[in-house]
Amino acid sequence: MSVLDLARPEIRAMQPYSSARMEASGGQILLNANESAWAPFGEAAAGCNRYPDPQPAALVDALAALYGVRREQLLVGRGSDEAIDLLVRAFCRAGEDAILIQPPTFGMYAVCARIQNAAVIEAPLAADFTLDVDAVLAAMTPAVKLVFVCTPNNPTGQVIPLAAVERLAQTLAGRALLIVDEAYVEFADAPGFVGLIDRHEHVGILRTLSKAWALAGARIGTLLANDAVIALLRRIMPPYPLPLPCVDAALAALSPEGQAQARGHIAEIKAERARMRTAIAAVPGVREVLPSQANFLAVRFDDAGAIYQRLLAAGIVVRDVRRYPNLGDALRITIGTAEENARVLDVLEQTR
Ligand SMILES: *Cc1c(COP(=O)(O)O)cnc(C)c1O
Repeated sequence: MSVLDLARPEIRAMQPYSSARMEASGGQILLNANESAWAPFGEAAAGCNRYPDPQPAALVDALAALYGVRREQLLVGRGSDEAIDLLVRAFCRAGEDAILIQPPTFGMYAVCARIQNAAVIEAPLAADFTLDVDAVLAAMTPAVKLVFVCTPNNPTGQVIPLAAVERLAQTLAGRALLIVDEAYVEFADAPGFVGLIDRHEHVGILRTLSKAWALAGARIGTLLANDAVIALLRRIMPPYPLPLPCVDAALAALSPEGQAQARGHIAEIKAERARMRTAIAAVPGVREVLPSQANFLAVRFDDAGAIYQRLLAAGIVVRDVRRYPNLGDALRITIGTAEENARVLDVLEQTR
Protein backbone atom coordinates (compact mmCIF):
# COMPACT_ATOMS: atom_id res chain seq x y z
CA MET A 1 0.00 0.00 0.00
CA SER A 2 1.11 3.51 -0.80
CA VAL A 3 0.14 6.69 1.02
CA LEU A 4 -1.50 7.77 -2.24
CA ASP A 5 -4.12 5.04 -1.77
CA LEU A 6 -5.52 7.33 0.94
CA ALA A 7 -6.02 10.17 -1.58
CA ARG A 8 -9.21 10.92 -3.53
CA PRO A 9 -9.06 8.69 -6.63
CA GLU A 10 -10.37 11.44 -8.93
CA ILE A 11 -7.51 13.71 -7.82
CA ARG A 12 -4.97 11.02 -8.60
CA ALA A 13 -6.55 10.50 -12.02
CA MET A 14 -7.11 14.11 -13.08
CA GLN A 15 -5.13 15.89 -15.75
CA PRO A 16 -3.63 18.97 -14.05
CA TYR A 17 -3.72 22.43 -15.64
CA SER A 18 -0.65 22.96 -17.73
CA SER A 19 0.52 26.56 -17.49
CA ALA A 20 2.62 28.44 -20.03
CA ARG A 21 5.47 28.62 -17.51
CA MET A 22 5.40 24.87 -17.03
CA GLU A 23 5.32 24.03 -20.73
CA ALA A 24 8.32 26.13 -21.76
CA SER A 25 11.09 27.99 -20.03
CA GLY A 26 14.00 30.05 -21.31
CA GLY A 27 13.82 32.06 -24.56
CA GLN A 28 14.29 35.80 -25.02
CA ILE A 29 10.97 36.84 -26.53
CA LEU A 30 8.11 35.57 -24.40
CA LEU A 31 4.86 35.53 -26.35
CA ASN A 32 3.28 32.41 -24.83
CA ALA A 33 1.37 33.64 -21.77
CA ASN A 34 -0.47 36.79 -22.93
CA GLU A 35 1.55 38.87 -20.50
CA SER A 36 2.39 42.52 -21.01
CA ALA A 37 5.73 43.14 -22.74
CA TRP A 38 6.22 46.32 -20.69
CA ALA A 39 7.60 46.69 -17.19
CA PRO A 40 4.86 47.64 -14.74
CA PHE A 41 4.67 51.08 -13.15
CA GLY A 42 6.63 51.57 -9.94
CA GLU A 43 9.66 49.84 -8.47
CA ALA A 44 7.67 47.67 -6.07
CA ALA A 45 6.31 45.76 -9.08
CA ALA A 46 9.62 45.21 -10.90
CA GLY A 47 9.41 41.97 -12.88
CA CYS A 48 5.70 41.57 -12.25
CA ASN A 49 4.65 41.88 -15.89
CA ARG A 50 5.60 38.18 -16.09
CA TYR A 51 3.89 35.30 -14.31
CA PRO A 52 6.09 33.99 -11.50
CA ASP A 53 7.82 30.65 -11.35
CA PRO A 54 5.27 28.18 -9.84
CA GLN A 55 7.85 26.92 -7.31
CA PRO A 56 10.84 29.29 -7.54
CA ALA A 57 14.02 27.21 -7.49
CA ALA A 58 16.00 29.67 -5.34
CA LEU A 59 13.28 29.75 -2.70
CA VAL A 60 12.73 25.99 -2.75
CA ASP A 61 16.50 25.47 -2.34
CA ALA A 62 16.75 27.99 0.51
CA LEU A 63 13.82 26.44 2.37
CA ALA A 64 15.06 22.89 1.77
CA ALA A 65 18.44 23.87 3.27
CA LEU A 66 16.77 25.63 6.19
CA TYR A 67 14.53 22.69 7.04
CA GLY A 68 17.01 19.93 6.15
CA VAL A 69 14.98 18.17 3.45
CA ARG A 70 15.29 17.40 -0.26
CA ARG A 71 13.55 19.73 -2.78
CA GLU A 72 11.13 16.99 -3.78
CA GLN A 73 9.93 16.79 -0.17
CA LEU A 74 8.86 20.43 -0.10
CA LEU A 75 5.85 22.40 -1.33
CA VAL A 76 5.77 26.19 -0.94
CA GLY A 77 2.37 27.84 -0.79
CA ARG A 78 0.54 30.94 0.34
CA GLY A 79 1.08 30.34 4.02
CA SER A 80 0.73 26.96 5.65
CA ASP A 81 -3.00 27.71 5.48
CA GLU A 82 -2.86 26.87 1.78
CA ALA A 83 -1.13 23.55 2.47
CA ILE A 84 -3.84 22.65 5.01
CA ASP A 85 -6.51 23.40 2.42
CA LEU A 86 -4.74 21.41 -0.31
CA LEU A 87 -4.29 18.41 1.99
CA VAL A 88 -7.98 18.36 2.91
CA ARG A 89 -9.05 18.70 -0.71
CA ALA A 90 -6.69 15.99 -1.93
CA PHE A 91 -7.43 13.42 0.77
CA CYS A 92 -11.01 13.99 1.93
CA ARG A 93 -13.97 13.04 -0.29
CA ALA A 94 -16.83 15.49 0.34
CA GLY A 95 -19.57 14.01 2.46
CA GLU A 96 -17.58 10.84 3.20
CA ASP A 97 -14.17 11.41 4.76
CA ALA A 98 -13.04 13.16 7.91
CA ILE A 99 -10.19 14.90 9.68
CA LEU A 100 -9.27 14.45 13.34
CA ILE A 101 -8.19 17.34 15.58
CA GLN A 102 -7.56 17.92 19.30
CA PRO A 103 -9.32 21.04 20.61
CA PRO A 104 -8.46 23.58 21.81
CA THR A 105 -6.31 24.07 18.72
CA PHE A 106 -5.78 26.16 15.59
CA GLY A 107 -9.05 26.87 13.82
CA MET A 108 -8.09 26.45 10.16
CA TYR A 109 -8.08 22.64 10.16
CA ALA A 110 -11.80 22.53 10.91
CA VAL A 111 -12.59 25.46 8.60
CA CYS A 112 -10.85 23.81 5.64
CA ALA A 113 -12.63 20.52 6.40
CA ARG A 114 -16.05 22.20 6.52
CA ILE A 115 -15.43 23.96 3.21
CA GLN A 116 -14.71 20.54 1.70
CA ASN A 117 -17.71 18.99 3.54
CA ALA A 118 -15.40 16.61 5.39
CA ALA A 119 -16.42 15.69 8.93
CA VAL A 120 -14.41 17.01 11.88
CA ILE A 121 -13.78 14.44 14.60
CA GLU A 122 -12.52 15.80 17.90
CA ALA A 123 -10.34 14.07 20.49
CA PRO A 124 -9.84 16.88 23.03
CA LEU A 125 -6.49 17.56 24.68
CA ALA A 126 -6.25 16.41 28.30
CA ALA A 127 -7.17 18.89 31.06
CA ASP A 128 -3.52 19.99 31.31
CA PHE A 129 -3.47 20.46 27.49
CA THR A 130 -1.15 17.54 26.83
CA LEU A 131 -1.95 15.30 23.86
CA ASP A 132 -3.83 12.14 24.81
CA VAL A 133 -2.59 9.61 22.24
CA ASP A 134 -5.01 6.93 23.43
CA ALA A 135 -7.93 9.32 22.99
CA VAL A 136 -6.77 10.17 19.47
CA LEU A 137 -6.46 6.51 18.52
CA ALA A 138 -9.82 5.67 20.13
CA ALA A 139 -11.49 8.42 18.06
CA MET A 140 -10.08 7.08 14.78
CA THR A 141 -12.59 5.77 12.25
CA PRO A 142 -12.02 4.47 8.71
CA ALA A 143 -13.31 7.83 7.42
CA VAL A 144 -10.42 9.77 9.01
CA LYS A 145 -7.84 10.56 6.33
CA LEU A 146 -5.92 13.35 8.07
CA VAL A 147 -4.89 13.69 11.71
CA PHE A 148 -3.66 17.20 12.51
CA VAL A 149 -1.51 17.77 15.58
CA CYS A 150 -0.11 21.18 16.49
CA THR A 151 3.15 21.53 18.42
CA PRO A 152 3.74 23.99 20.03
CA ASN A 153 -0.04 24.17 20.09
CA ASN A 154 -1.97 27.32 19.32
CA PRO A 155 -3.57 28.70 21.55
CA THR A 156 -2.12 26.82 24.54
CA GLY A 157 1.63 26.82 23.80
CA GLN A 158 2.51 23.26 24.83
CA VAL A 159 4.70 20.90 22.81
CA ILE A 160 4.01 17.24 22.13
CA PRO A 161 6.78 14.86 23.25
CA LEU A 162 8.65 12.87 20.60
CA ALA A 163 7.42 9.54 21.98
CA ALA A 164 3.78 10.58 21.50
CA VAL A 165 4.32 11.72 17.91
CA GLU A 166 6.29 8.54 17.13
CA ARG A 167 3.53 6.38 18.52
CA LEU A 168 0.90 8.23 16.50
CA ALA A 169 3.02 7.95 13.36
CA GLN A 170 3.46 4.24 13.80
CA THR A 171 -0.16 3.50 14.59
CA LEU A 172 -1.59 5.63 11.78
CA ALA A 173 0.53 4.05 9.03
CA GLY A 174 -1.71 2.84 6.22
CA ARG A 175 -4.77 4.46 7.79
CA ALA A 176 -4.34 8.24 7.69
CA LEU A 177 -1.80 10.99 7.18
CA LEU A 178 -0.34 12.55 10.32
CA ILE A 179 0.19 16.28 9.77
CA VAL A 180 2.36 17.98 12.39
CA ASP A 181 1.88 21.76 12.42
CA GLU A 182 5.10 23.39 13.60
CA ALA A 183 4.19 27.03 13.00
CA TYR A 184 5.90 27.99 16.29
CA VAL A 185 8.70 25.44 16.51
CA GLU A 186 11.42 28.10 16.19
CA PHE A 187 10.42 29.35 19.66
CA ALA A 188 10.53 25.89 21.26
CA ASP A 189 13.41 24.40 23.24
CA ALA A 190 13.25 21.02 21.48
CA PRO A 191 13.81 20.60 17.73
CA GLY A 192 10.87 19.66 15.51
CA PHE A 193 9.87 16.39 13.90
CA VAL A 194 11.02 16.88 10.31
CA GLY A 195 13.19 13.76 10.59
CA LEU A 196 10.01 11.68 10.61
CA ILE A 197 9.25 12.29 6.94
CA ASP A 198 12.19 10.17 5.80
CA ARG A 199 10.90 7.20 7.79
CA HIS A 200 7.14 7.61 7.31
CA GLU A 201 5.56 8.28 3.93
CA HIS A 202 2.31 9.31 5.65
CA VAL A 203 3.79 12.04 7.87
CA GLY A 204 3.80 15.70 6.82
CA ILE A 205 5.23 18.74 8.61
CA LEU A 206 3.87 22.29 8.25
CA ARG A 207 6.32 25.17 8.60
CA THR A 208 5.81 28.88 7.96
CA LEU A 209 7.70 32.13 7.58
CA SER A 210 4.75 33.97 9.18
CA LYS A 211 5.80 33.86 12.81
CA ALA A 212 9.53 33.63 13.68
CA TRP A 213 10.54 34.96 10.26
CA ALA A 214 8.42 38.11 10.51
CA LEU A 215 6.76 37.55 7.11
CA ALA A 216 3.07 37.07 7.89
CA GLY A 217 2.26 39.61 5.18
CA ALA A 218 4.22 37.74 2.50
CA ARG A 219 2.18 34.53 2.95
CA ILE A 220 4.94 31.92 2.59
CA GLY A 221 4.32 28.52 4.16
CA THR A 222 5.69 25.08 3.49
CA LEU A 223 4.62 21.47 3.63
CA LEU A 224 7.42 18.94 4.12
CA ALA A 225 6.37 15.41 3.22
CA ASN A 226 6.96 12.36 1.09
CA ASP A 227 7.76 13.14 -2.58
CA ALA A 228 4.54 11.47 -3.78
CA VAL A 229 2.34 13.56 -1.47
CA ILE A 230 4.08 16.76 -2.61
CA ALA A 231 3.68 15.80 -6.28
CA LEU A 232 -0.02 15.05 -5.73
CA LEU A 233 -0.70 18.44 -4.14
CA ARG A 234 1.13 20.25 -6.92
CA ARG A 235 -1.46 18.81 -9.33
CA ILE A 236 -4.29 20.70 -7.64
CA MET A 237 -2.43 23.82 -6.58
CA PRO A 238 -3.22 26.99 -8.56
CA PRO A 239 -0.62 27.46 -11.33
CA TYR A 240 1.08 30.61 -9.99
CA PRO A 241 0.62 30.60 -6.22
CA LEU A 242 3.56 32.74 -5.14
CA PRO A 243 3.64 36.46 -5.96
CA LEU A 244 7.08 37.62 -7.07
CA PRO A 245 7.50 40.39 -4.43
CA CYS A 246 6.70 37.83 -1.72
CA VAL A 247 9.30 35.42 -3.05
CA ASP A 248 11.88 38.22 -3.04
CA ALA A 249 10.95 39.11 0.54
CA ALA A 250 11.36 35.48 1.59
CA LEU A 251 14.76 35.20 -0.11
CA ALA A 252 15.95 38.31 1.72
CA ALA A 253 14.73 36.93 5.04
CA LEU A 254 16.59 33.66 4.38
CA SER A 255 19.88 35.36 3.46
CA PRO A 256 22.67 35.03 6.06
CA GLU A 257 21.95 38.55 7.37
CA GLY A 258 18.22 37.85 7.43
CA GLN A 259 18.75 34.62 9.34
CA ALA A 260 21.00 36.35 11.86
CA GLN A 261 18.32 38.98 12.47
CA ALA A 262 15.58 36.37 12.86
CA ARG A 263 17.66 34.37 15.33
CA GLY A 264 18.29 37.49 17.36
CA HIS A 265 14.58 38.24 17.54
CA ILE A 266 13.75 34.63 18.45
CA ALA A 267 16.21 34.79 21.38
CA GLU A 268 14.70 38.11 22.48
CA ILE A 269 11.17 36.70 22.31
CA LYS A 270 12.14 33.66 24.37
CA ALA A 271 13.71 35.86 27.05
CA GLU A 272 10.69 38.18 27.09
CA ARG A 273 8.36 35.20 27.27
CA ALA A 274 10.07 33.97 30.45
CA ARG A 275 10.06 37.45 31.95
CA MET A 276 6.39 38.06 31.07
CA ARG A 277 5.28 34.69 32.36
CA THR A 278 6.72 35.40 35.81
CA ALA A 279 5.53 39.01 35.86
CA ILE A 280 1.98 38.26 34.71
CA ALA A 281 1.64 35.35 37.13
CA ALA A 282 2.22 37.82 40.00
CA VAL A 283 -0.58 40.20 38.92
CA PRO A 284 -3.69 40.10 41.14
CA GLY A 285 -6.65 38.61 39.25
CA VAL A 286 -4.44 36.29 37.20
CA ARG A 287 -5.33 32.66 37.83
CA GLU A 288 -2.67 31.00 35.73
CA VAL A 289 -0.18 31.62 32.94
CA LEU A 290 0.08 28.46 30.88
CA PRO A 291 3.62 27.29 30.13
CA SER A 292 4.43 28.19 26.53
CA GLN A 293 7.00 27.19 23.94
CA ALA A 294 5.57 29.63 21.40
CA ASN A 295 5.64 33.43 20.97
CA PHE A 296 2.50 33.94 23.05
CA LEU A 297 1.15 33.26 26.52
CA ALA A 298 -2.32 31.96 27.31
CA VAL A 299 -3.40 33.61 30.58
CA ARG A 300 -6.38 32.76 32.78
CA PHE A 301 -8.03 35.69 34.58
CA ASP A 302 -10.73 36.04 37.23
CA ASP A 303 -12.48 38.32 34.72
CA ALA A 304 -10.96 37.89 31.26
CA GLY A 305 -13.70 39.97 29.61
CA ALA A 306 -12.93 43.01 31.76
CA ILE A 307 -9.18 42.63 31.17
CA TYR A 308 -9.75 42.38 27.44
CA GLN A 309 -11.72 45.63 27.49
CA ARG A 310 -9.17 47.37 29.72
CA LEU A 311 -6.33 46.44 27.39
CA LEU A 312 -8.39 47.53 24.38
CA ALA A 313 -9.14 50.89 25.97
CA ALA A 314 -5.36 51.32 26.32
CA GLY A 315 -4.92 50.56 22.63
CA ILE A 316 -3.66 46.99 23.18
CA VAL A 317 -5.38 44.22 21.22
CA VAL A 318 -4.99 40.65 22.48
CA ARG A 319 -6.84 37.50 21.40
CA ASP A 320 -9.95 36.54 23.29
CA VAL A 321 -9.82 32.72 23.36
CA ARG A 322 -12.72 32.19 25.78
CA ARG A 323 -14.74 30.36 23.11
CA TYR A 324 -12.23 27.47 23.11
CA PRO A 325 -12.91 24.43 25.32
CA ASN A 326 -11.19 24.62 28.74
CA LEU A 327 -10.12 28.20 28.06
CA GLY A 328 -13.32 29.95 29.12
CA ASP A 329 -11.34 32.39 31.31
CA ALA A 330 -8.33 32.97 29.05
CA LEU A 331 -6.77 35.54 26.76
CA ARG A 332 -3.86 34.86 24.40
CA ILE A 333 -1.20 37.54 24.51
CA THR A 334 1.50 37.65 21.83
CA ILE A 335 5.02 38.53 22.99
CA GLY A 336 5.93 41.87 21.46
CA THR A 337 8.91 44.17 21.88
CA ALA A 338 10.15 44.81 25.42
CA GLU A 339 8.40 48.21 25.33
CA GLU A 340 5.12 46.70 24.15
CA ASN A 341 5.27 44.01 26.81
CA ALA A 342 5.97 46.62 29.49
CA ARG A 343 2.80 48.48 28.38
CA VAL A 344 0.79 45.26 28.72
CA LEU A 345 2.12 44.77 32.26
CA ASP A 346 1.36 48.38 33.17
CA VAL A 347 -2.25 47.99 32.14
CA LEU A 348 -2.63 44.59 33.81
CA GLU A 349 -1.22 45.98 37.06
CA GLN A 350 -3.62 48.95 37.12
CA THR A 351 -6.04 48.47 39.95
CA ARG A 352 -9.55 49.58 39.28
C1 LIG B 1 -0.33 31.12 12.35
C2 LIG B 1 -0.55 29.67 12.21
C3 LIG B 1 -0.54 29.04 10.96
C4 LIG B 1 -0.71 29.81 9.71
O1 LIG B 1 0.41 30.12 9.12
P1 LIG B 1 0.45 30.80 7.69
O2 LIG B 1 1.69 30.22 7.16
O3 LIG B 1 0.50 32.25 7.96
O4 LIG B 1 -0.76 30.42 6.89
C5 LIG B 1 -0.59 27.66 10.89
N1 LIG B 1 -0.71 26.93 12.00
C6 LIG B 1 -0.78 27.51 13.21
C7 LIG B 1 -0.91 26.64 14.40
C8 LIG B 1 -0.72 28.88 13.35
O5 LIG B 1 -0.85 29.44 14.56
